Parts: sequence; structure tokens; C-alpha cells
Amino acid sequence: MQFHYIANTPVRSSTERTLPVIDPSDGQAYDAIQRGTPEDIAAAVQAARQCFEGPWSRLSAAERGRLLMRLSLKVAEHADELAAIEQRDCGKPTKQAMADAAALARYFEFYAGACDKLHGETLPYQEGYTVLTWREPHGVTGHIIPWNYPMQIFGRSVGGALAAGNCCVVKPSEDACLSLIRVAQLAAEVGFPAGAINIVTGFGHEVGDALARHPGIDHISFTGSPAVGTLIQQVAAQRHCPVTLELGGKSPQILFADADLDAALPVVINAIVQNAGQTCSAGSRLLVEQGLYEPLLERLGEAFGQLRVGPAAMDLDVGPLIRATQQQRVWDFLSDAQHAGIPMVAQGTVVDEAPESGFYQAPTLLRGVPVTHRLAQEEVFGPVLAAMSFRDEDHAVELANATQFGLVAGIWTRDGARQLRMARRVRSGQVFVNNYGAGGGVELPFGGMKSSGYGREKGFEALYGFTTLKTVAIRHG
Ligand code: NAD
Repeated sequence: MQFHYIANTPVRSSTERTLPVIDPSDGQAYDAIQRGTPEDIAAAVQAARQCFEGPWSRLSAAERGRLLMRLSLKVAEHADELAAIEQRDCGKPTKQAMADAAALARYFEFYAGACDKLHGETLPYQEGYTVLTWREPHGVTGHIIPWNYPMQIFGRSVGGALAAGNCCVVKPSEDACLSLIRVAQLAAEVGFPAGAINIVTGFGHEVGDALARHPGIDHISFTGSPAVGTLIQQVAAQRHCPVTLELGGKSPQILFADADLDAALPVVINAIVQNAGQTCSAGSRLLVEQGLYEPLLERLGEAFGQLRVGPAAMDLDVGPLIRATQQQRVWDFLSDAQHAGIPMVAQGTVVDEAPESGFYQAPTLLRGVPVTHRLAQEEVFGPVLAAMSFRDEDHAVELANATQFGLVAGIWTRDGARQLRMARRVRSGQVFVNNYGAGGGVELPFGGMKSSGYGREKGFEALYGFTTLKTVAIRHG
């Protein structure tokens, strides 16, 4: 049985109700989490406030940094344990679960070093004045986290908020909480004061909503679907609470005829099959220059045909999807494709060892997907790659920008001038040229344009979002 973690203490839900924890590899329940309530959120916010106004604010920036560094080392020490927890909870193949644990340690390491480098400015003003700006923490920050990369998103969001001097109340996804509860315990073990990191589990419409509404929350970092992002904005707007929104994507991989295919193909494949395609920055649209289209699809089809899907512990190319409803969602997209006559180029294989009760989906490559079809417009959040061809640079830009999203784009060409032209014209928060940095790049600011959200997390840039600026004008004659 798992508990909330509030003020460094395991806590039961005020109603003592629980929710099952399901292993996506076999669809069976193996543990339970607390089904939190607004009262539990209130207790967590109170703990965070007391910590913020007490021990946390008395720490110097360097001391906060040392604590974060201790947590980074502790996470690295417990990487195998954390990866094993995440693997079973989320159905991640071993390599992915280990990469997530390593990324979590790296986020804490990065933000440990950043704590005492965040500073304001002195500004030129009228004669007789000295004007300063200070970066101050918001106070108590709320973090609503999805199920696809719990550890990584916790690291970037909570790591940045703590580094900036905030105390945190975290609402993980009801489908993926266990690793974060363990990380909060590890934080207590390395000396984080009670209330600095609080975890409340449960449903989004119950505890997530209560967190977003709570008047004691000074800033909300939301990572999740565009639909829930809209609800969060509406709720936060009632009390003018600042929000960072990290939402979905329909990111294009754009291949020109002069691309280095040997370098591009493994990256293009990984960008859609990593985490079974359940990645906000998945490269889910493949835009290919006409002359390259047929030979590329032939090579890619062969590679897709060799991909193997199975239980997380088998550590194959692809693990299960998170839950039955996600599997159904992917099936619905594929059945729509079939009805629309969109041809399938190739599909991977689900291995015989995969239990029928698990949530498996073979990676699928589709071609000739019309730009207006939902497969070219909406996030599938599964291992489905939609290929289409383009005539020239202008057409590539038109297709790349033809969705509501703007999270990440990949551009593959050897032509340096075209690299720069394309990088400028594609509307997305990150552009990768001759590489695709889906989950990586702790140092690199990350976030969306258009319906992919606003605000930036990761890198030093995130610290500006987790602070508010105060201007102090002193008249001294
Ligand atoms: P989701 O929006 O369903 O849930 C995200 C979180 O919000 C969960 O913790 C959930 O419990 C909570 N929630 C749900 N309803 C709520 C409500 N009414 N009020 C407050 N909180 C509520 O998303 P998901 O299915 O968990 O994750 C997949 C989505 O997340 C995809 O759209 C994906 O692109 C996006 N995502 C974005 C990024 C990014 O950095 N841009 C990263 C990962 C995932």
C-alpha cells in the first residue's frame, strides 16, 4: 500500500479510499495508492507554506544547492531501484527506465549548480537613483505531472522550482505515482526539511483540480494534455495564478533528399517508438522530399518490420502502452486510417511471451496520410508514424506548420543555408538539425508554441518561470 507523502510523513487519504496500481505488461493490479481529496491537498499546501516561511527560506542559495546535489547522488545510488519501480508502474523497457532514473539525477545535479547563479541586475536610471531587480521565489508551487515520464518531468519541474527557492506540492498521474513517492522519501533521507516536497496522489478531477484551485498555490506547472491544460488555465485565471503549460505535440521529422539516411533512420525510428510513442515530443509525422519518399519508405518499412514489442522486463524495442484506454485510443486511430484507405507500409511484432491481458501495440508505419486527416493533426500517443511527401522547401514548411501544435521539429539536410532557413520558419519551441533530442538535453530550454503550451522548463530558463521579479528603486540623491 502506498501513501501520500506530506511533510516527510506517509499519510492516508482523509477518506481512506484507494486506487489500484496496474502493471501495463499484464494488466494486473499489484499495489494501491491513496485516492486523495481536497482536504489532503489542503494539508500538503499548509505543510509547504510552513516550510517555505520557516526552514526553507532560512537556507542560503548555496545550501539549497548542496541539498539538491545530495539528492542527485542519492537518486543515482538508487537508480536500479527507482528504474524497477518505474518499469512495473509504467511498462517501460529496462533501458528506458534506467535512462529516466539517470535523467532525474542529472536534473537535480544541474539545478543544484544553478541555485547560487540566479541573480538580478542593477539598472541605469535617473541621476540620484540606484535600481535593482531581485528574483524571488513564488512561494508554494503546484506541479501536475503526467504518466509518460514521471521521473523526468518531476526532475525538471520540481528540481527547477526548488532551486529557485519554492516549496512544492506534487500531484502525479493516477497511473504513475510510485517512483515519485520513493523520490520524496529519498529527499527526506538526505535532509530536505518537512514540507519542501509533498506528494498527493489521486484522480485529476479530484486532487489535480483541488490543487489548481487552492488559494495557497502561487504558481502551477502543468504537464499534460491540451484539454486539461485549458481547464487549468481557466481555474488559475480566477485568481490570476501564473501557469506554465507543457502540452502535447505532433512533431515533424523533415527529411530532404540530401539527408544522411544512415544517421537519420535510427533516430527517426527511435523518436516514434521510444516509450511506445507515448512521448510529448514524439516525431510522429514524417515529411519526406518527393525524390527520397519511395526509397526511404522501403528502408524504413524493413526496419519497422523488425521491431519487437513485449513485456517491459524483456527490454525489447517497445513495451506496452500505459493502460487499456490508451490502447483503445491507438486502435481507434488505426481503424480510422483503414476506413480512410490510408496504406500501412509495415508493422512490428508483438512477441508470443506478451500476456493477452497486457496493453500492447505493434509500431505502425502509414504512408500518404492526408494533411487534414486526424492522423496528421492529433496526438495518437502510441507508436504510429504518419508519412507524407513534400515538393520543396516552401511545401515542407507549410506541412510542418499545419497543425495546432508547435513543440519540437527535426530537420535533416546537409545544406547549411537550408538548415538555418528551415529552423527559422518552422514554428516550434525546439528545432533539431541532423539529430532529434526527444527526451534529452537537461540544459536546453523546452516548451511549446501554439497549443503545445507556453513558458519554458529545463535549462536555466526554467528558473525565470519559477521566480517573480521585484524592482527596487532607491533614491539617494
Ligand atoms: P492528462 O492531461 O490526462 O493528465 C495530466 C495530469 O493532469 C495528470 O496528473 C492528471 O491526473 C491531471 N488532471 C487530469 N484532469 C485534471 C483536472 N481536471 N484538473 C487538474 N488536473 C487534472 O495527460 P496524460 O494523459 O497524463 O499525459 C499525456 C499528455 O501529456 C499528452 O498530451 C502529452 O503530449 C502531454 N505531455 C506533455 C509534455 C511536455 O513537456 N510538453 C510532457 C509529457 C506529456
